[in-house]
Amino acid sequence: MTSRSVMKKNTDAGKPAEKHGCLFIISAPSGAGKTTLCKRLMNKFDDMTYSISYTTRTSRKDEKNGVDYYFISKEEFEKRIREDKWAEWAEVHGNFYGTSSQYLNNALLSGKDILLDIDVKGTMQILKRYPESITIFIMPPSFEDLRIRMESRGSDNREVMEKRLKNAEQEMSKRSLYKHEIINDNLDKATMELIALVEKYRAGN
Ligand code: 5GP
Repeated sequence: MTSRSVMKKNTDAGKPAEKHGCLFIISAPSGAGKTTLCKRLMNKFDDMTYSISYTTRTSRKDEKNGVDYYFISKEEFEKRIREDKWAEWAEVHGNFYGTSSQYLNNALLSGKDILLDIDVKGTMQILKRYPESITIFIMPPSFEDLRIRMESRGSDNREVMEKRLKNAEQEMSKRSLYKHEIINDNLDKATMELIALVEKYRAGN
């Protein structure tokens, strides 16, 4: 399998080989700027598809159901676990998050490049199924910087924020499991690095 393909399809002799999509996975601790970077990436590549995750957490102001996440109940999430509907799922900061298997399979079959914004546990599950996935870890310039960014965001109460900071430390310690690392010490620079990396894979290098 080349770096270009996540899934291989049979090709008939004489017919041009079909293009297959790349599966990009981006992870980062909360507050590292990942959401902004993912949005910028999606704006740049309008033929790329973004996997909208499902979550049991409540929506933040400005978040829309079906755009940022599908917000579902814990009961519904657990039902889908029993029905084996998740390509991966994880409990993060006391809430469940998951990627729909059906969505992922359809997106892969369509040949489009896909972007997953998921945590480290979810990434490890996807890598088992799709080892050719391109994994990218976004790092904040420092832990202190992360705390400041989280405080200025002001969207979580202190208890939630402390939980997220603890989790951030654990996630950052796993960054060597990713193929690529980008330090977001400057948003424009990090965006350019990310776009260049994605372009490289899309070009088949
Ligand atoms: P937030 O609540 O800040 O939007 O996201 C919290 C964490 O959950 C982030 O690290 C984010 O990447 C992760 N996350 C979002 N969607 C998924 C998903 O579908 N699966 C997994 N495993 N993690 C997710």
